[in-house]
Amino acid sequence: MDYPGNIFVVAAPSGAGKSSLVKALMELDSAVHPSVSHTTRPPRGQEKHGREYFFVSANEFDAMVEGDGFVEWAHVHGQRYGTSKKAIEDRVAQGSDIVLEIDFQGALQIRKTFANAVLIFILPPSWEELRSRLERRGEDSDEVIALRLKNAAHEMARAGEFDYVIINELFERALFDLKAIVHAQRLRYAAQRRLRADTFAALNIP
Ligand code: GDP
Ligand code: ADP
Ligand code: 5GP
Repeated sequence: MDYPGNIFVVAAPSGAGKSSLVKALMELDSAVHPSVSHTTRPPRGQEKHGREYFFVSANEFDAMVEGDGFVEWAHVHGQRYGTSKKAIEDRVAQGSDIVLEIDFQGALQIRKTFANAVLIFILPPSWEELRSRLERRGEDSDEVIALRLKNAAHEMARAGEFDYVIINELFERALFDLKAIVHAQRLRYAAQRRLRADTFAALNIP
């Protein structure tokens, strides 16, 4: 499917810093918009319905699956998460850049529908650091942390299927890398041709 805006898909093992990096990117760059997913998991502390996620019941999620409302959905850490068609199509039709923060299986699904999607994988600097970030975040029980670490090994083994890899050791450095990827994508010929149509016309470039 062709589309006018860029689709950035960011995946990472839980705790690698994906949400922190994407949030910081959006604070710096108001032209990048989030795709808000649906999930059956309950909200954490400060999370708000419609901002981090649309928090729905299992029945509501089922109804969306049956109604073909998702571009992709997946079981992650014992819950279900999905990207609604609406989350992508409205934005992309307007030519906006959107960023999807989804798990690695979902990222690969997105590429099947949107061949030009840019897939970015965030790695932690080490296992020790990944574990300690999950513990420090303080949002998950020991049991959930153990499950997230187990899933991480499986996901990291497939990082090679992504276009870009960022190692989130020093946060500012990783954010700089993420900005560089977004920036480079906007400099691609097709994107410049669209964004700077007036300049191309003035230069008589057909
Ligand atoms: P050059 O490589 O000397 O031409 O300059 P760059 O602009 O590429 O920057 C050099 C280094 O500074 C890069 O490798 C980055 O790690 C770092 N750097 C540049 N801009 C930023 C920034 O906005 N934030 C952070 N954290 N580092 C930056
Ligand atoms: P994810 O969305 O990948 O599960 P989060 O963004 O929630 O990860 O980050 C997990 C924890 O690690 C958070 O407490 C966050 O503040 C912290 N964190 C993120 N990046 C770094 C970093 N570069 N150095 C140290 N701590 C970090
Ligand atoms: P968390 O519960 O930590 O917010 O997210 C758990 C995992 O679910 C993360 O890996 C996150 O990227 C993934 N996730 C969030 N939204 C979606 C989605 O819409 N689709 C898929 N496939 N995964 C998602």
